[in-house]
Amino acid sequence: MKHNWKELLILLLICVVTVLFLYGTVKIERVISLLILMVLLSTYRYSKLIIYFSFLLAVFTCPIVLFYNIQVVDIISSVIETHQDEAFEQLSVIPIWLMISAVIYFVFSCYFYYKFKIKLKNKHKLLLAVIAIIMSFHRPLLKEYDKPLLEVRLPPIDYMYNVYDTYNQYITERDIINSNLNEYKSYQWPNSKTKPKYKNHVLIIGESVRKDYMSLYGYKHNTTPFFDNVNKTYWSNFITPSFSTLASVSRLLSENNGLSIEYKKNVMSLANSLGLNTYWLSNQGKFGVHETAITQFAYVSDHSYFSNLVNSSGSTIKDSDLLPHLKNVLENDEGNKFIVLHLMGSHTNFCKRIENSPKFEIGNSRMDCYVESILETDQMLSKVHTLLKNENQSFSMIYTADHGLIHTPDYSNLVHGLKQESLQSPLVKISSDMSKTILNKQYISGFDFIYYIMNWLNYQNQPIKYSLKDDVLIFSEEKLFNYINVSKEEK
Ligand SMILES: [Zn+2]
Repeated sequence: MKHNWKELLILLLICVVTVLFLYGTVKIERVISLLILMVLLSTYRYSKLIIYFSFLLAVFTCPIVLFYNIQVVDIISSVIETHQDEAFEQLSVIPIWLMISAVIYFVFSCYFYYKFKIKLKNKHKLLLAVIAIIMSFHRPLLKEYDKPLLEVRLPPIDYMYNVYDTYNQYITERDIINSNLNEYKSYQWPNSKTKPKYKNHVLIIGESVRKDYMSLYGYKHNTTPFFDNVNKTYWSNFITPSFSTLASVSRLLSENNGLSIEYKKNVMSLANSLGLNTYWLSNQGKFGVHETAITQFAYVSDHSYFSNLVNSSGSTIKDSDLLPHLKNVLENDEGNKFIVLHLMGSHTNFCKRIENSPKFEIGNSRMDCYVESILETDQMLSKVHTLLKNENQSFSMIYTADHGLIHTPDYSNLVHGLKQESLQSPLVKISSDMSKTILNKQYISGFDFIYYIMNWLNYQNQPIKYSLKDDVLIFSEEKLFNYINVSKEEK
């Protein structure tokens, strides 16, 4: 091969940048298969169009993926949902340097590749093709996947398939929601004549919070300075319905007997019935296997905002990005309000969640990030509190989390799993009329959380439903278990 190595190096660089722009990360298999594809296609003028098309996709995707971590399909879905223009709103603040870099990349790459040509002997072509096929298809060939095309590592094929697949998923999930929506939305709670006590109600649902990592509940590091110092009522024996988001949140927010859920009787329809203006502000995803059922509650509200339209686990949008939206609601809506904030909180990939470098060193970087995420949620809630106070109106805020996590056997990480510790959630209420702190040690079952909300919103003077420790049930694998029979973590 007499070809200029410098040219090949530039081509490699273009491949790396293209893959980074398209996917947000550089996977070596994708770089190699794209590089080979570019080399093999370089002598065919019209086949080169595939590569130009990839550059074009990369140019559109890069600001979205790199800067906002929104996927292209988010934009597509926001076009479909005409009332959802948030994605565009976010696009309008993409920094100019990023746009200019993207354009420079595009023009340079197209020009360079237009000129680029490499003539190979047939046996070399064959060898390269074999390498490219191995790089591209080794995952689906070695292991069975539900969606094998998604596991191919060949831009732009896997990219296009991903867009197509997420789009399809989006349409399916949206239809599920729409089919139930009217019934939930029009449901009127009986005898909802009582007036709520406060002007502003904010319910904050955290994510994957172990309360034993909160200094409020005795953790050795000062991870919840806001909660520690504010006047509040807090509960030390609130048991969440389950240890996963979907199973837990759907039961926390609706009337249920643990097994079956009466979705129409949910906190949002209750607040609507009581005449409150309702809002759902979420930093979790809107559509996806784990998200859609929860999104139903958002649809029952008068207004909703999602920072992630599609699945959220990869998102790095910070919870604090919801604060301006909350501020906006508080400032512009004069009525009595019920606002839900659904946070990403301490969801796995802890180091992706945090805004600052970890303040406490407790073992390894993952755990440091987890503890930092607890601290940053506390800081965020302190800001929520300040926003509420600044309104000079009566308010009450409640914070809980959908579930905790369990330690891996070597205590180097936290994962989803069933132990008593992953079912113990924080439950804190802070109201404008509180002048002292009260710790309540009675047991509240997550299945009865809606009664707690009824009590909070002063619905028919409903008292909080307490349970005896022995009676608390939890939901796992489509069955009910006694909380006290769930094993505890060793150590
Ligand atoms: Zn969760």
